[in-house]
Amino acid sequence: MMKRLFTFPAMAVVAVIVSSCARKNAPHDPMERWAWEVPSPPPPPMAWVPAGPFRKADRTPDNVTAIVIHTTEGRWSDDLTHAENQERNFRNVINYFKKNDRNVSAHYIIGRNGEICQMVNEGDVAHTQTYYNGRAFGIECAGWSRRPETWTPELMESLIKLCAYLCVKWDIPAYHPEGTAYEGPYSVIVDEENKRFTGPGLVGHDQVQPWNKSDPGDHFPWEEFSERVRLRIREYGVEPIELPSVEEIVSSDIFATARIREERIGTGEPFTYELTLRGPGVNSVSIGDIVFPDFSVIEGLEVVSKPVRETISETLVQFEIGLRRDVPGRFSIGASRISIDGSWNDTQTLRVNVE
Ligand SMILES: [Zn+2]
Repeated sequence: MMKRLFTFPAMAVVAVIVSSCARKNAPHDPMERWAWEVPSPPPPPMAWVPAGPFRKADRTPDNVTAIVIHTTEGRWSDDLTHAENQERNFRNVINYFKKNDRNVSAHYIIGRNGEICQMVNEGDVAHTQTYYNGRAFGIECAGWSRRPETWTPELMESLIKLCAYLCVKWDIPAYHPEGTAYEGPYSVIVDEENKRFTGPGLVGHDQVQPWNKSDPGDHFPWEEFSERVRLRIREYGVEPIELPSVEEIVSSDIFATARIREERIGTGEPFTYELTLRGPGVNSVSIGDIVFPDFSVIEGLEVVSKPVRETISETLVQFEIGLRRDVPGRFSIGASRISIDGSWNDTQTLRVNVE
């Protein structure tokens, strides 16, 4: 009998940022919250063109902690001036995000003359920076990280206004955190192949994915930019939120991986579903806080042994549950939730074929 395990992204980042900011205690609906919050800046003028790829979500300020700055890169023509290339790039990228087969998008695109186009609603998740999407806004600046001319005064002014607006409305720290997924205080190493950046605030794509991204690049003036975002926020009569302490963030970042032991999958044979939690905060998670999926909703899937918790080390806890399925076919399990300090987080979905 053939046995196969589909290893779709069986890893999810579960981040719980405990913020001391009282403004986080807001009504669930961001729009409702928007209506009663007192000193809020208006959004800068922008066009709306809906993106094709995105994930519908109901994000609140509790879920969102960062703004990721990008450059679009893309085609360059030596027959055109920099300005002409950049203007064409802005239009091309908007068209591309309307529909593309790479399943990518961004919340906002900014052009060289400061024009802003929104393509994904604030509460929804754009597909801009892989594992970091859920917690972030993605802003694409039309241009090239290697070309300093990308950063025109008009583009920078619009970017600053947009970031100031988002920082106030969504309680995002108006500071640039240091380091990358590889190193620095916000780097969490899950294992050799999985390294994650957990820093909140005004973040570069190169910090999130240092293995394959280098935007917005060395010409982007991080210090001046974040200082001007804070100035703008203060003009609205609001004090910018500072970065939470590193200890606070690292201790609340937990990584969950789930897998089914491949060698035992097959019709009628029991197999083990493991949920592994790894991270400096795992000791604050107790077995009572893990909710396993309702396996009974999958036809023929039965629990043959109850979840067993095993503490592997100070930073690694593993749960195992034995399952058996008598019906061939493909199914998904997941929706495991982890509670840390009372906050619930969905983890991941694992798809399995039983043949
Ligand atoms: Zn990027």
